Amino acid sequence: MTLLPDIKSTKVNLLGYDLAHMKAFFTEIGEKPFRAVQVLKWIHQFGADDFTQMSNVSQSLRNRLSDIAEIRAPEIVAEQKASDGTIKWLMRLDGGNSIETVFIPEDNRGTLCVSSQVGCALDCGFCSTAKQGFNRNLTSAEIIAQLWVANRALNPLAQLKDEAQSKHGKVQDSKNRVITNVVLMGMGEPLLNFDNVVEAIHLMLEDHAYGLSKRRVTISTAGVVPALKRLREECDVSLAISLHAPNDAIRNKIVPLNKKYPIKELLEACQYYFSGDTKKKQFTIEYVMLAGINDSEKNARELASLLKKLPCKINLIPFNPFPDSDFDCSKMQTINRFKDILYKAGYVAVIRKTRGDDIDAACGQLAGKVKDKSRRIKLDKMN
Ligand code: SF4
Repeated sequence: MTLLPDIKSTKVNLLGYDLAHMKAFFTEIGEKPFRAVQVLKWIHQFGADDFTQMSNVSQSLRNRLSDIAEIRAPEIVAEQKASDGTIKWLMRLDGGNSIETVFIPEDNRGTLCVSSQVGCALDCGFCSTAKQGFNRNLTSAEIIAQLWVANRALNPLAQLKDEAQSKHGKVQDSKNRVITNVVLMGMGEPLLNFDNVVEAIHLMLEDHAYGLSKRRVTISTAGVVPALKRLREECDVSLAISLHAPNDAIRNKIVPLNKKYPIKELLEACQYYFSGDTKKKQFTIEYVMLAGINDSEKNARELASLLKKLPCKINLIPFNPFPDSDFDCSKMQTINRFKDILYKAGYVAVIRKTRGDDIDAACGQLAGKVKDKSRRIKLDKMN
């Protein structure tokens, strides 16, 4: 068997640089900062992967960039399409790891579910990614690359066709976008890879890159409380909280992070996140339905009471079983009853449609391939 060597490069990968970082790069190499906007557009709006394509950049600068820099994304090693149109890509990273990214098409939008780490260290009991263990954080380039790669695969118009089009055409026309929403809900806990996630989000929101609105980019977190406070200051996108339980006793068992940051602290951090901003009207509570664990009528009433001061909507997620999982999904009748109780208490509660389950792309089923699965985060070492 031949093992492919890891790709090692001494060149700077510009794919993950946000505008500020890109300007700093051009200043450092003695170029004018406006080059940052040009190059950002070529990479993210036109899908360029080669500096020679950048026709409004001088030949000498193109040559220089080719010598010192690169635009390098993970390679797609497999693509699977589900019967409902959901697409899952397996992307190979340097170091032999791989991650999964999922595109979910709906009538009026297309959502890309992006990974932020190779595996996850938080060990939530109902999660397939958790069973894979944790290897490392993704770089900002590896995070934004998932959008870059999916954009090129889904929308050939977004790719560089010819110089005339790229010079004059606005190929990243927001009306024709295939990917309208991004959720950081794939492999990993995004707030444990804070700096790289925030840099990638800057690119998602950046007008010279993807130009998505804050409302259309969602970070899903199990509740890393100090990072939530920091996020509010640096990048206040939409929020989904993986709550999954109405009290600490249940949550301690299925989301171990709760022992470090119990529900009260987490919900106070959410309140702080939204304080003083009337535009961010509500956040989402994610609640996976586990038979006999968190799905009783008493649990539903407890949840309604717990959330009563918070501007949230509740997503009830039928559990997607995977090999070796210790849980069963609640019966549909139970989920409906749970929803009705929340509804009568005044909440918007929806049962999330399971998408892509025939290709293991449904919520909680992403696994990728994690080398060295032994790393776990010690909760008492986390800040
Ligand atoms: S549910 Fe999210 S935070 Fe928990 S182990 Fe899975 S990926 Fe990590």
